[in-house]
Amino acid sequence: MIKKVCVYCASSDKISQSYFDGAAAIGQLLAEEKITTVYGGGSAGLMGRLADSALAHGGQVIGIIPHFMTEVEWQHNGLTELILVEDMHERKRMFLEDIDAVIALPGGTGTFEELLEVITLKRLGKFLQPIIIYNQNGYYDPMIAMFEKAIEEKFMGEQHRGIWTVIEEVADLIEAIEQAPKWDQSAIDYAKV
Ligand code: AMP
Repeated sequence: MIKKVCVYCASSDKISQSYFDGAAAIGQLLAEEKITTVYGGGSAGLMGRLADSALAHGGQVIGIIPHFMTEVEWQHNGLTELILVEDMHERKRMFLEDIDAVIALPGGTGTFEELLEVITLKRLGKFLQPIIIYNQNGYYDPMIAMFEKAIEEKFMGEQHRGIWTVIEEVADLIEAIEQAPKWDQSAIDYAKV
């Protein structure tokens, strides 16, 4: 049973409308499935759109935001719960507490960093839940190609492909979470890539 997921996504407002529609569709789906959304707590970009849509469809939305961002009023003021934390590190750690999956929507370096960190944590067995990459408009094709390059050149092993699942359509999200390869300590092989 999926109860709570963490969503990483863009803060930019300048991106094309289709990305806003994608974030809205994810927010709506999570609300309809009665899944709580945990995210960065911002009101801008895909973050704001995701939260607005989930709330408009009756969903629960928890934002986790560092103090310094609230000093410049970047927070969303209509959330179910807004948790203020000391810094970006604490925020990223809290994102991953007690959640059933991570979903990365399109974003910039902030989103990339969050996604790459959680992939690294899962590789090391410090995070075991599904990681879903929503490859809207093929946005993540170059990153996925980089992962493949890393596997081909043996910077990662073939087994590490099981860390993430790529979806092209919002409608595939729930099934992707449910069917993600199980990941536990036995799936981890640090030394032998
Ligand atoms: P990016 O993908 O580079 O747009 O970054 C998204 C991440 O950057 C968020 O998860 C936040 O950590 C942070 N961030 C950047 N700008 C903002 C903002 N205006 N409001 C809230 N968080 C932001």
